[in-house]
Amino acid sequence: MPHRSGRHFLQIPGPTNVPDRVLKATSYPTIDHRGPSFATLGRKVLDGLKTIFGTEHDVVIYPSSGTGAWEAALVNTLSPGDRVLMFETGHFGSLWADLAGRLGLDVELVPGDWRSGVHPDTVEARLSADEQHTIKAVAVVHNETSTGVTSNIPAVRVAMNRAEHPALLMVDTISSLGSIDYRHDEWGVDVTVGGSQKGLMLPPGLGLNAISEKAKRAYESATLPKAYWDWLAMWESNPAGFFPYTPPTNLLYGLSEALDMLLGQGLETVFARHARHAEATRQAVQAWDLELLCQVPEEYSNTLTAVCVPDGHDADALRSVILDRFDMSLGAGLSKLAGRVFRIGHLGDLGDLTLLGTLSGIEAGLRITGIPHREGGAGAAIRYLADNP
Ligand SMILES: *Cc1c(COP(=O)(O)O)cnc(C)c1O
Repeated sequence: MPHRSGRHFLQIPGPTNVPDRVLKATSYPTIDHRGPSFATLGRKVLDGLKTIFGTEHDVVIYPSSGTGAWEAALVNTLSPGDRVLMFETGHFGSLWADLAGRLGLDVELVPGDWRSGVHPDTVEARLSADEQHTIKAVAVVHNETSTGVTSNIPAVRVAMNRAEHPALLMVDTISSLGSIDYRHDEWGVDVTVGGSQKGLMLPPGLGLNAISEKAKRAYESATLPKAYWDWLAMWESNPAGFFPYTPPTNLLYGLSEALDMLLGQGLETVFARHARHAEATRQAVQAWDLELLCQVPEEYSNTLTAVCVPDGHDADALRSVILDRFDMSLGAGLSKLAGRVFRIGHLGDLGDLTLLGTLSGIEAGLRITGIPHREGGAGAAIRYLADNP
């Protein structure tokens, strides 16, 4: 590939830009994963992740994609034929449901419009109707990365409590963890699923579970087959800082560095930065007179914004022009949204000028492709960021 001067803009909603500090840390020499230095690293990252998840209970780290951590959440707590209530919030909600079905679970998928989040009233109604308590888990995607919609997890918990239903609550936070406020313990979540390559600013390759005491009890009677994903092996090794098999040592170096960065700033600061960048992005979209995919303002995502292109225009052509001319990657519309939306990732390691560069590149791309819009979106974002430090 010919050299392109300047930095590539990786503005997809994950994997995100990996800060130089983290990249450098991943290049340290690999060490003996059964030696004392590793134990210190292992304990540090497991402990730091508890703060990120907002839990005092167990966290496990797999060398895996987020998909692996989805599977781990289910196979460690459920048995063949168990009913699971899931939600078609978009592409990722649908994929998790599909995976659950293939594991032999009886999935009840609540249809969705891909433009809004999980409705707590639906949760309450479905659970109240289940008088025999045959539904064993409710599984929700916190931040649906295909649509830019964030569901209200505390409201889902309240709905479950009102139905007085004992199902486990499982939440996918792969594109919100470390970017949008999230509290595993306080919100009464039983298994939280995470990944390394989005808000945690790491390369892909780590799958995460945070596990409540109730989920731990469910583990005792769960009979879905499990081997690689078995929590027990982790519980036996992790307290000493070790893993049951060769850990992804260099990614853990990166995680250690990322934790220092996130916890050093303070999570509140990190969440506020994402909220501010998301608002600046929406101001730009509004100024362009383009439509947001998310139709519920309280559910606007702080980590990505999905933008609709007018009928008869192709979002993928726009993305390809922007990549070609300005060396910037934007997120594609997934499955039924292909060609109809583009997604702006504004999570992870991001400064004001990175965001303004991103929005400027999009505005230039809109001009080149002739997609109908008003000029001045980047300017609107400049005003917002300048006026709201
Ligand atoms: C990225 C993402 C996934 C998939 O993660 P992989 O690492 O690709 O398996 C699942 N859920 C959500 C919400 C995501 O954003």
